[in-house]
Amino acid sequence: MEGVVWPPLALGAKAALVALLHQLEETQWWPRDKTAAMQFSQLAVLAGHAASHSPNFRERLQKAGLTAADIGTPQGFKRLPPLTRRDIQAAGAALHCTEVPQTHLPIGEVKTSGSTGEPVVVRKTSLSNLVWMAMSFRNHFWHGHDFSRRFSTIRATITKQEERPDWGLPLKLLFDSGPAQLIPVTTDIKEQVRLLRQFRPQYLILCPSNLAGILDECQKQQEPLTGLTGITTINETLKADFRQKAEAYFNTKIDDIYSSAEMGSMALQCPVSGLYHVMAENIILEVLDDNGQDCAEGQTGRVVVTDLLNFATPLVRYSINDYAEAGGVCPCGRGLPTIRRFLGRERNLVVRPGGAKHWPTVGLIKFHEVVPVNQFQFIQHDLENIEVRLVTGSAVTAAGEDKLRALIHENLGYPYKISFVYFNQKLPLQPNGKFEEFICKV
Ligand SMILES: [Zn+2]
Repeated sequence: MEGVVWPPLALGAKAALVALLHQLEETQWWPRDKTAAMQFSQLAVLAGHAASHSPNFRERLQKAGLTAADIGTPQGFKRLPPLTRRDIQAAGAALHCTEVPQTHLPIGEVKTSGSTGEPVVVRKTSLSNLVWMAMSFRNHFWHGHDFSRRFSTIRATITKQEERPDWGLPLKLLFDSGPAQLIPVTTDIKEQVRLLRQFRPQYLILCPSNLAGILDECQKQQEPLTGLTGITTINETLKADFRQKAEAYFNTKIDDIYSSAEMGSMALQCPVSGLYHVMAENIILEVLDDNGQDCAEGQTGRVVVTDLLNFATPLVRYSINDYAEAGGVCPCGRGLPTIRRFLGRERNLVVRPGGAKHWPTVGLIKFHEVVPVNQFQFIQHDLENIEVRLVTGSAVTAAGEDKLRALIHENLGYPYKISFVYFNQKLPLQPNGKFEEFICKV
C-alpha cells in the first residue's frame, strides 16, 4: 500500500499470497491428525464439485459405488480406484469440469508426458498458480535463500538466454532480489558452463541430469564452478550417490523439489532432516504397495496423488507413475508427512555429432498436432540415428511421419535420421524394470 513501509500491507492478489504464506507458516507445525481432518473436509467439497461438473469423475464414482460425500471420508476415499495416465487420455474432455468457481478463473492448460512418455492434458486455475507461488516461497524460506544474491536457472520453459535485474516471478511480487541469469535447457553443456562461469551465480536451479552434465564438463576442464551457496534440483529423480558426489564437488548443499507440471510442487526437502515433506495443504500423497495398501515407513511403492484445490481437472487418486519410499516422523517437528526418497524419473542427455550435449525436451513435442500419441520413447543409437517408439491412437501415414520428423528435428535442433517403430498398448520397460523417455546409447 502506497505510503506504508511498515508494517507492510499488500493489496489484491498479493494480499491473498501473503495471507496464504502466513497460514502455511502455521499449518506446517500442525499435528498429522489435524491436517488429515482438514484435508478430508476440503476433499468433500472438491468431490462434490467434480461430481456435478466432470462427467468422467461422476462415472468413476458410479463404477466404484461411491458418492461424493464418501470421498470426504478416509474409508470412502481409499475405495476409489486410482486414475491412470491412460484413463486420462481415454477420458479426453470428459475429465474436465464444465464449470469452475468464478474466483478460480482464469483457466490454463498444461501438457505433460510425465516419466513414462504418456502425454496428458490437465487444466489448472489461478488458484493452482497461487499455491504454486506459495510453495516456491516455502522452499526459499526453508532453505534460507538470500534473495540479494545472484541466481541462475536452466529450464525447459526458457526459450532465450538472457540476464534480468531480478529473480522474476513469483519472488518479485513480495521481495527485492539480486540479478538472475536464464539459460535454455537445450543449450550445449559446454556453453552452459561458460555462461555460468561468466555470471558467477550463488544459486542455481536445474534438473539433476543437466547438473550431472555440468559436473562432468567442469571435471574435464579441471575447474569447478566457484561461489555457489545453494543448488535446487527439479523435474527428475535426484539419486543419493549423485547428490553426494555433486555436493562434495560443488561444495554446497542441494535442495530437491518433487514436482510435476500437472500437480505443481508436491514435496520439498526438509532443511533439518533432508526428508521430503509433502505439501499437505493442497496434496494428499499416498505410497501404495502392490495390493493398494499404504506402505509402512521404509517400504517402497507407487505414488498416488490428489490435488485438493484443482476445480478444473479433478485429479483424485491419480497414479502419477513415480515410486517412493515412505518416511516416518521428522525430527524437525513439522507435522507434514514425509517421504525418504523418490525413484524412477531419469533422463539421458542427447549427444550431437561434434559432441555437444543437452537435455532433450522431447516432452514438449506437439505430437498431437499430427496424431494422438499415447506413449513415446526416444532411443539414440549413435550420433546420427534416433529410434522413436510410439503407441498411437490411430495409424500414421507416410505424410504423417514426415510431419512428426519435422517436429522432432525442430525440437532436438538437429536433423537426426529418425526411424519410427510402432507398438500396441504399452512400450516395453528396460531390462532394469524402469522406463525412460529418452535413452542415449552413445
Ligand atoms: Zn522436517
